[in-house]
Amino acid sequence: MTSFAFEPNARPLAVNERAALIADPGFGRVFTDHMATVRYSANRGWHDAKIIARAPMSVDPATAVLHYAQEIFEGLKAYKLADGGVALFRAEANAARFRNSARRMAMAELPDVLFVESCRQLVRADRDWIPDVEGGALYLRPFMIASEVFLGVKPAAEYLFCVLASSVGAYWKGGARAISLWVSHDYTRAAPGGTGEAKCGGNYASSLVAQADAVARGHDQVVFLDAAERRYIEELGGMNIFFVMDDGSLVTPPLTGTILPGITRASLIQLARDEGLTVREEPYTIDQWRADAASGVCVESFACGTAAVVTPIGTVAGPDYQFTLGTGATGQTTARLLQRLTDLQRGRAPDPHGWLQRIG
Ligand SMILES: *Cc1c(COP(=O)(O)O)cnc(C)c1O
Repeated sequence: MTSFAFEPNARPLAVNERAALIADPGFGRVFTDHMATVRYSANRGWHDAKIIARAPMSVDPATAVLHYAQEIFEGLKAYKLADGGVALFRAEANAARFRNSARRMAMAELPDVLFVESCRQLVRADRDWIPDVEGGALYLRPFMIASEVFLGVKPAAEYLFCVLASSVGAYWKGGARAISLWVSHDYTRAAPGGTGEAKCGGNYASSLVAQADAVARGHDQVVFLDAAERRYIEELGGMNIFFVMDDGSLVTPPLTGTILPGITRASLIQLARDEGLTVREEPYTIDQWRADAASGVCVESFACGTAAVVTPIGTVAGPDYQFTLGTGATGQTTARLLQRLTDLQRGRAPDPHGWLQRIG
């Protein structure tokens, strides 16, 4: 089943009102006229795929997701290309990760074609919502909830899959300023055997107090250490992390099950290797990072993810230490990889790996 019913929004936003909204959309507050939905039930399988007017949903208060948090999500972008076309970036990779997340959360696995087609149809319906501003894109938010009305503790028998589209500008206003990190020695994000590699809302719920703690201490983002030994650097609340060494090589923590397998991470590893750089996926401790930053062995660090793409890290602090990466400003390798990835995403550079999928 891949045919979608299209029920156009009878009252789309007026052109001038839309233009005003997307002139400076920020992140995650401006939504388009439509959304995609697909339903699942144990007896009917996947059914009722449609593109409809975006509107509030009414849910029974006993809906399973509200109680036991069976919820997963994705984040990907549709870009306007240099030639005026529109393309999704690596949507198949998001579809595969979504299936993996579903399996970990004991939810029904959405077939990849339905995932990708939902995104394509929604972007086709709302392509006029892509802002023509620096960093402008349609941020797609596919998600799935346990929609069965039942308080028993078991995997739900009914699910609702939905895709929202949000007009976004650059994630960081005024360009990618180097951020400051707070290393959490109190909280961890994911334990071995837990849900760290699933993209589920619960991981975010449990990381917010650590993020708020970092902000209260005057930092931009929290960085988590591994839960078992509290030594190895894992990732930020919603971004993976890279370290650039003085010999030009890159290091990033390996995907051992507690780290979210970022698609930006995978893309940057590939682009760096295409350039001839060495990339090592290996454990890196906070003590080593401190020592390497001080000795000049680690010259740059950056965080990465779909929303903000590449974000340079300027300074890092913990309970009794503080250090600066390089000069504390955006490093050369960081800037170059950001440029290479965004050039590819916007059709300004060749796409040798076939990561862009045009939308007709
Ligand atoms: C989504 C996410 C990332 C980044 O993944 P991308 O596919 O690059 O957007 C990193 N860490 C966490 C915890 C995430 O949820």
